[in-house]
Amino acid sequence: MDTYDALLAAITPKSGRTREILDPATGAVVGRAPVHTVDDLDSAVAAAAQAQPAWAARGHAERIATLNRVADAIEASAEPLAELLSREQGKPLNGPNARFEVGACSAWLRATAATQLEAEVVVDDGQTHAELHYRPIGVVGAIGPWNWPMMIAVWQIAPALRMGNAVVVKPSEYTPLSVLALVAVMNQELPAGLLTVVCGDREVGARLSSHPDIGKVMFTGSTATGKAIIKSSADTVKRLTLELGGNDAGIVLSDADPKAIAEGLFWGAFINSGQTCAALKRLYVHDDIYDAVCTELTAVAETMPMGVGLDEQNVLGPLQNKAQFDIVSRLVDAAKESGARVLLGGNPTLDQPGYFYPTTLIADIDNANPLVMEEQFGPALPIIRYTDLDDVIAQANGVDVGLGGSVWSPDLAKARGVAARLEAGTVWINGHGGVHPMIPFGGAKQSGYGLEFGVEGLKALGVPQVING
Ligand code: NAD
Repeated sequence: MDTYDALLAAITPKSGRTREILDPATGAVVGRAPVHTVDDLDSAVAAAAQAQPAWAARGHAERIATLNRVADAIEASAEPLAELLSREQGKPLNGPNARFEVGACSAWLRATAATQLEAEVVVDDGQTHAELHYRPIGVVGAIGPWNWPMMIAVWQIAPALRMGNAVVVKPSEYTPLSVLALVAVMNQELPAGLLTVVCGDREVGARLSSHPDIGKVMFTGSTATGKAIIKSSADTVKRLTLELGGNDAGIVLSDADPKAIAEGLFWGAFINSGQTCAALKRLYVHDDIYDAVCTELTAVAETMPMGVGLDEQNVLGPLQNKAQFDIVSRLVDAAKESGARVLLGGNPTLDQPGYFYPTTLIADIDNANPLVMEEQFGPALPIIRYTDLDDVIAQANGVDVGLGGSVWSPDLAKARGVAARLEAGTVWINGHGGVHPMIPFGGAKQSGYGLEFGVEGLKALGVPQVING
């Protein structure tokens, strides 16, 4: 599938109920997605359950080889995949966006294929010999969001397949085509039935998380939906990995160099126009350098073009949907009404197509303001002034989520000391949001539980079994 038209044709339904998917940058029709039902989901789970034992029986070496061929197939279709992702999700081709996301899919597959999870001898003292193994779970359900639809699907699918499981994926209703296309490409190398996409709304998602033949749900999305999944999965005592919402704080210490950190701060906050789980969503800056950081950050932000994704010059795109546009508008309006100072943006043009919200920086804002306390998930960053380190750490920890955080200072020992006091699953120093396929990633507090990536990520897709004797 090396052309865009061939890729789109491969995923366009030939029959059944369908609905139009629109480009969030232009309003143009991207394609039609199937509207699957709960019965379709049941059929996909049955097919997955049938395909899984033979896949598990192939053993690690053969599964590793297959996953590497899947990565090759993604690379061969990379440009059409990136174009579809850009049209449907809105993110530009260039910058850390659509091409980057497709590249991450093949990179993650290769890294997951290469990761080894050996059986562990836990006691061997002459009298007792006990080993810890990880067996396949069976059928894994994968429910994903609309912000990084391909990459997050691979984060869920790759370790599940690597460990000998079958997977049924339910993409977000906002970005089904991206996941359908990615899986169509992956399925060029996978046995029939092993990996299926079921497109549906939350009713299908709810059935997936209560399905008796699904042993584990990998979920990435909002905290509210994560709580619904915990409840609906309870009767079947499913294993869960929950990657939920965040409201990450970044703390700039008084000795940081404003000019040197400005670009890192910008991408930490504005990657994918802020629609990123572990993006910098609240920036706390020491009073000594507050004005300089505001000036340098504004200077960087002003140079970053936002527009239609297929235009090669753009590095920022629109919000993906109207609901998210409305959330960002409401929060920025509340900040403006409170008297906070707009350094940049805050003035969307409403008479143009597309959900474009301009890059927005808001200074001199109170920590209790909704733009600080709620997850904005868009291109609007509040910058809060502080003077006392203990106070700012308390403010950073003063929300009920804890996905990521960051500390900015040339003094690494001091920065690590502050990092250790932050209630977050990952704390970056002099950066924010970078992920790596060998470094475990997961949330603290209501940002979820369970780890993805690396050896820990493989363990999460297996059933631990102890052989004692
Ligand atoms: P969402 O929770 O609205 O939807 C996510 C998925 O859940 C969709 O596929 C949706 O159809 C499905 N769903 C909805 N109700 C369901 C139910 N009752 N049972 C089962 N499935 C159901 O999230 P979203 O708006 O697509 O994504 C944005 C959110 O995701 C943000 O809060 C963001 O922080 C979070 N997120 C977290 C991570 C992470 O790694 N922690 C990564 C990306 C996004």
